Amino acid sequence: MLPPDYLTQRSIAAPERSQHERHLGHLRGLRERLAGSVVSKADAGWGRARLAWNLAADQRPPLVAYPETIVDVVELVSFARARALRLVPQGTGHGAVPLGAIEDGMLVTTSRLRELVIDPGQRRARVGAGVTWGEVQAAAARHGLAGLAGTSPDVGVVGYTLGGGLGWMARRYGLACNSVLAFDVVTADGRPLRVDHEHEPDLFWALRGGGGSFVIVTALEFALYPVRELYAGALFWPQERAAEILPAWQAWAAGVPDSVTSVGRLLNVPQSSEMPERLRGRSFVLVEAACLATEDEGVELLRALRDHEPEIDTFAMLPPTGLGDLHMDPVGPVPAFIDGWLLADLPPAAIDTFVAAAGPGSRSPLLSVELRHLGAGLADAAPEHGAMASLDAGFATATYSVVPDTDKAMAVGRHAATLRAALAPWEAERNYPNFAERSFDLADLFSPEACERLCRVKAQYDPGNLIQASHPVPVAQPSPSAP
Ligand SMILES: Cc1cc2nc3c(=O)[nH]c(=O)nc-3n(C[C@H](O)[C@H](O)[C@H](O)COP(=O)(O)OP(=O)(O)OC[C@H]3O[C@@H](n4cnc5c(N)ncnc54)[C@H](O)[C@@H]3O)c2cc1C
Repeated sequence: MLPPDYLTQRSIAAPERSQHERHLGHLRGLRERLAGSVVSKADAGWGRARLAWNLAADQRPPLVAYPETIVDVVELVSFARARALRLVPQGTGHGAVPLGAIEDGMLVTTSRLRELVIDPGQRRARVGAGVTWGEVQAAAARHGLAGLAGTSPDVGVVGYTLGGGLGWMARRYGLACNSVLAFDVVTADGRPLRVDHEHEPDLFWALRGGGGSFVIVTALEFALYPVRELYAGALFWPQERAAEILPAWQAWAAGVPDSVTSVGRLLNVPQSSEMPERLRGRSFVLVEAACLATEDEGVELLRALRDHEPEIDTFAMLPPTGLGDLHMDPVGPVPAFIDGWLLADLPPAAIDTFVAAAGPGSRSPLLSVELRHLGAGLADAAPEHGAMASLDAGFATATYSVVPDTDKAMAVGRHAATLRAALAPWEAERNYPNFAERSFDLADLFSPEACERLCRVKAQYDPGNLIQASHPVPVAQPSPSAP
């Protein structure tokens, strides 16, 4: 599918000019009908409009649209359908890399869908598709409530939730997608729909963890939980102690209740003035955790880890908004390499392998490699859950690095691949899409039954494959016997 001439920057030959002018007329008409706006490749603002949060994503869509209302989204769908342009919904662009260049698509940036309502009585939130987790947590905290945010306050609620949603309270309350109560969407044939357990139940199932392939989500409603404070923070040791600390963390994690969600991590802090001076340029092994507990309970919970005498200890009672700083995720757009996969288990041999491949002495260029403890509430697949009903794995790995140039990106990519290959004996059967910034077969993410159902939902709601997602669900499942 090639972009029409009026959407490209190439100069237009005389015989084509009248067609070009007609197309420009269509774009003018679209702009007049929208409350929001559209930036085309020919406009001065395109260079900025095309950028995702992850600056490593080289997005080159001929059009970038900023809808402000549901009616705008309906208009955009109808415009794109009539011109065989793919529709690419995007909140922040944290998950943009797998989308590629989008040269045949219209990027639908939802950042102006700003609705944010907290209903403290019903303990629920309603957010527009442009709202980020930091905004939700700040609004919910005023009522002593919290949503199931991940580590970064910058991440969009919708994209995170469509891909599962693994946060700091995950072992108690599960994946964020399974706390969703309703979606407002616009379908690929331009119909606004309310989607919940009673309305469009198959689509409701698919959207809860099955990704953004089916419809454009305009708003989301989800449960909030009564959390005023948590005992949370990080313990830092010099990375040379990784072979002692990570096994101690693993043994500790095996015994903690579901109120504790923790991460074991290797961190190579850049030599940057943006970093706190005491961390700058140093390598650490860390344990980060959030405990739904009082201070006394938290101190008791952490005792076995503190026996290892950390160099830095940041644990304290925090409001849920404080969790946004705990993992030290980057704020603002950066060129990033992100990858991750699930491990069925983490026996001592797996930890040895992890430390040998990414720890001191490995000359690892990876800024951060982490192991998130799963299980408990994440392992419970209730019948009412969505497509990602649970995570059937003991641990999730995630690796993150800033990659300002191609050489660095190649070095980081190679090292991450080596680490993954080394840990292959312990890799779980399925992967977790939110942590994997690359293309996947659907079968790597979901069971055969779930794959089949997701493809059926895609065929029902978007048979023409108008909507392009970071982790796409195909209209039809490839037959195993196909060449
Ligand atoms: C620094 C950092 C920290 C992270 N921490 C966590 C974490 O703790 N836990 C976790 O689970 N994940 C985490 N992630 C991964 C993150 O959840 C995914 O990248 C997620 O896809 C980001 O959602 P977004 O809306 O911000 O990004 P986007 O790139 O805007 O969206 C990702 C995809 O979601 C779909 N989508 C978005 N909006 C819509 C819409 N309105 N309608 C239809 N489809 C839509 C599209 O397919 C889109 O390509 C982290 C990522 C980064 C970079």
